Amino acid sequence: MRKKITIIGGGITGLSSAYLAAKDGWEVTLLEGGPQLGGLMSTFQIGGSLLEHYYHHCFTNDAELLWLLRELNLSDRIDFKKTTVGIFRNNKIYDFNGLKDLLGFTPLGAADKIRFLLTSIYLGKLTDWRKWEGVSALEWFYRYTGRNVTDSIWRPLLEIKFGSHADKVPAAWMVGRLKQRMNSRKGTGEQLGYIEGSLQILTDTLERSLTNLGVKIILNARLTKLVIKANTLCAVETTRGPYTGGLFLATIAATHLTPLLRETASEYADELSRIRYSSAVCTILEMDRPLSHIYWLNIADPGFPFGGIIEHTNFISPDKYNGSHILYLSRYFAGDADIASATNSEILHRMIAPLNRINPRFNESWIKNTYVFRAKTAATICGLNYSGIVPNCETPVKNMYVVNMSHIYPDERSCNNAIRTAARACRKVGIKSSMVPLGSSLSGQIGMD
Ligand SMILES: Cc1cc2nc3c(=O)[nH]c(=O)nc-3n(C[C@H](O)[C@H](O)[C@H](O)COP(=O)(O)OP(=O)(O)OC[C@H]3O[C@@H](n4cnc5c(N)ncnc54)[C@H](O)[C@@H]3O)c2cc1C
Repeated sequence: MRKKITIIGGGITGLSSAYLAAKDGWEVTLLEGGPQLGGLMSTFQIGGSLLEHYYHHCFTNDAELLWLLRELNLSDRIDFKKTTVGIFRNNKIYDFNGLKDLLGFTPLGAADKIRFLLTSIYLGKLTDWRKWEGVSALEWFYRYTGRNVTDSIWRPLLEIKFGSHADKVPAAWMVGRLKQRMNSRKGTGEQLGYIEGSLQILTDTLERSLTNLGVKIILNARLTKLVIKANTLCAVETTRGPYTGGLFLATIAATHLTPLLRETASEYADELSRIRYSSAVCTILEMDRPLSHIYWLNIADPGFPFGGIIEHTNFISPDKYNGSHILYLSRYFAGDADIASATNSEILHRMIAPLNRINPRFNESWIKNTYVFRAKTAATICGLNYSGIVPNCETPVKNMYVVNMSHIYPDERSCNNAIRTAARACRKVGIKSSMVPLGSSLSGQIGMD
């Protein structure tokens, strides 16, 4: 008899778990609540090509993602190249790609530059991140790098990722982040990767491969009920009907699971409810010319409704998009922030208004098309001592396993780290996953014992 598993959620965590289980000979059903697979990696049509709703790139040390691409014969589709990073400070764009740019970064004096350099190297080389879990990264930076460095560099960097939750992020998270970025540097510049044709290529190839391996993929099957009897998960009910038997691996956000557990496993529901998420809004502008020469621009001046500008076509040629120049205006926020209830046209109005501070020549007539995309559970909020609230992958409910973004810590959540945690969860479930090379990422250690 083949062992049976039902996987809930068709993002990269669910897709890679399904791939590993099917490769190991399990009978797999994959239930996706929406009309398409991919989750946060999903794409839309722009300039005659596909593009991610939310900006995506990967790193040269993303060992797990590179493994999956090899498995799917997609290695030749990924291209790594140098990118340009900048900081907008004191109403000016500063390139910020290496030592030379740091020397020319006039918002900082010589002593500040040395402190910035030494503390970055120190944090990036730390191995024992657990020691830094109880200390806020911003507090640490204010103490060791000073106000000027923190306000010019670190605070904007944390705010682009965590919005108003930036001050709660532990120094341990910075350790993971700096390791990832340092390891992705070659020589003087950082190399980032992008899949030619977008992440849709990965999703579509995985879907074909899963189908060939016999995985039953059910779309529009949103989980509506967990049928728990005698503390055992016996079945799940979905908008496409019930599914029974075997083990269940939920890869959806904790906030989606909590209400379904409230009546039958209330203590576990309480445990999951401690995991909180930031939402994100990405406004995409398709323009007839570039806004700046920078790919990733951190905003370090006050008064902007977004934390960063990711000018995709300063990384991937505009030729791929019929000559259009495409940029993302990115903002993370708490669910109760006023932007959560703002209409798309209000968001567009607010976000476009300050663009001539970035480029005084900017004119709205440059814009050909606009798009606004929102993700409710865009990232987990990793507060102080976060590892203490990460739920165990093997839940107190028999037959029920959970793996999602909450397990990605202290590294930043990413597609690579989703594959890594999926592999760790599969091992926990009893699925062979040793073929996944575990790279330098620090995630997937917690909740998997
Ligand atoms: C703005 C932004 C920028 C990012 N940039 C990068 C980047 O540069 N590089 C990188 O590697 N990563 C990046 N990421 C992160 C990356 O996209 C995620 O870490 C990854 O896609 C998460 O995959 P997942 O499968 O865990 O979750 P998700 O992608 O959220 O998938 C969950 C799936 O479950 C489904 N679902 C939800 N509820 C139910 C239900 N009740 N029943 C059934 N199905 C359900 C959803 O429809 C979805 O398909 C970014 C994310 C955001 C938001």
